[in-house]
Amino acid sequence: MPIRPLSETMVNQIAAGEVIERPASVVKELVENALDAGATRVDVATAGGGLSLIRVTDDGSGIPEAELSLAVARHCTSKLTDDINDIRALGFRGEALPSIGSVSKLAIRSRTAEAENGAEIAVDGGRVASVRPAPANRGTLVEVRDLFFATPARLKFMKGERAEATAIADTVKRIAIAFPEVRFSLSGPDRSTLDLAPAGEGPEGRLARVAQVLGREFAENSLAVDALREGVRLDGYISIPAYSRANALQQFAYVNGRPVRDKLIAGALRAGFADVLPRDRHPVTALFLTLDPALVDVNVHPAKSDVRFRDPGLVRGLIVGAIRETLARSGIRAATSGAD
Ligand code: ADP
Ligand code: MG
Repeated sequence: MPIRPLSETMVNQIAAGEVIERPASVVKELVENALDAGATRVDVATAGGGLSLIRVTDDGSGIPEAELSLAVARHCTSKLTDDINDIRALGFRGEALPSIGSVSKLAIRSRTAEAENGAEIAVDGGRVASVRPAPANRGTLVEVRDLFFATPARLKFMKGERAEATAIADTVKRIAIAFPEVRFSLSGPDRSTLDLAPAGEGPEGRLARVAQVLGREFAENSLAVDALREGVRLDGYISIPAYSRANALQQFAYVNGRPVRDKLIAGALRAGFADVLPRDRHPVTALFLTLDPALVDVNVHPAKSDVRFRDPGLVRGLIVGAIRETLARSGIRAATSGAD
């Protein structure tokens, strides 16, 4: 066979294989888009564990009608400043919407503050329909139906509606902790629901949001962490050893406001608690690292939850040291046993 370029839809479906692992990945991308658009309120509704329906509504900037078709075109973004070293927005690859549209039935309805009327674009398994007028509030509504209908192999790997719904709720919580001033809700036939009122700005807002998401009990059984080493700041909250868990699912970490799941951070947490927790117990944490963006690479993986630090030893040392000091300062010593 002669060499030919892949079709646009094939290219997007291949990208979807990386970016869109499961329904929670769609929720992550759509909620991040809403936040990048300056939303003060983000409402998520799902059905069938997100496989039959995901709907994300925001009151952000909206998308101009003339740009709707670009929003679903590959590698088109309004966020990159032509400098890969200066990424401020949560998104920047221009990959999410075309990927989602290639494996589902996607509809985007939007209106900007300036526009009198709203408009809608639909993509069905990669086929883009033309833009048409549609009534819309200011902001954007994105609806994803029948996720993975176009890629049955991926659909087979889903863990069941309950597990997918739980992963979606976890995703919303993870992001919500980083944006305490924004109202988030999660609703729909899937039983996991959330309603997080705006918690305000600054350190108080952050603590209030952490308490909303992780529970008042966590707030009452946690210690504040605040440490600085060579320009890298670590602050947030760690549970006391007695408030530990059987798994590490309740560990929330952020780098420059971006939710991350990072092996280095997880390992440093384990080391910091090694003297006070048995191996099979895990602290609950919400920790925020702040450092010069030039010292951390957020462009490691398309799903963007991995990061790479220029000086991993410094970051690890900062976390381990800060946890040990925080525990010691509150008089917690080795052999304190963990229990739920
Ligand atoms: P990226 O977020 O990397 O730019 P996406 O494919 O997620 O790529 O989105 C493409 C573009 O569509 C964005 O750059 C943005 O201009 C627009 N967009 C997507 N979602 C929204 C939204 N909720 N509100 C406003 N604009 C949006
Ligand atoms: Mg995006």
